[in-house]
Amino acid sequence: MKTARIPATGQEFTIGKIVCLARNYAEHARELGNETPAAPVLFMKPASSVIADGETVRIPAYSQECHYEVELAVLIGSRAQAVSAEEAMACVAGYGVAIDMTLRDVQNQLKAKGLPWDVAKGFDSACPLSDFVPATAVPDPHNLNLRLAVNGELRQNGSSADMIHRVPGIISHVSGIFTLEPGDIILTGTPAGVGQVLAGDVMAAEISGVGNLRIAVR
Ligand code: MG
Repeated sequence: MKTARIPATGQEFTIGKIVCLARNYAEHARELGNETPAAPVLFMKPASSVIADGETVRIPAYSQECHYEVELAVLIGSRAQAVSAEEAMACVAGYGVAIDMTLRDVQNQLKAKGLPWDVAKGFDSACPLSDFVPATAVPDPHNLNLRLAVNGELRQNGSSADMIHRVPGIISHVSGIFTLEPGDIILTGTPAGVGQVLAGDVMAAEISGVGNLRIAVR
């Protein structure tokens, strides 16, 4: 069992499903040669893929190209089924920092065949995740600076202002497909600048006012 914590309130949630958006920042969609979607593109990571700050990403032997994607993580605190965008924010317990680790070579092979991405996105250690801050500590989730450095060199530096689909609309859309339960997490997509990490690298991810992660790769 994996746990999501909000240290400021002492709350702990058993992590349920992790619903992720792809292509939610136009510049990142362009850098991978993808169209910008009208509706959110969704996939999931299993809770077993979560690792905490200070832990290590282990690149599976079946991949030669593992990428980082820094993302704002939204922790669901109360059940949401087909909620409206207006109702959605009441379901948010907190915000955290995630890295959506992606085996880009494997994902590209699967995409080319029209196959699901699970083995490229859901392997053990594919979801480094920070502790959460309470939702009340983040007055505007669309005014946050997201940064990721590899070995001290800044690689991603974006703003959540550039999300195509915003948090209330995302929760409304997702909750119409998958009932959201306390402990579920939504990863809201990554800004531009994604790239490869190799064994021995150290990633440092930070979202202003939300938290940070230090994650080694092997
Ligand atoms: Mg992503």
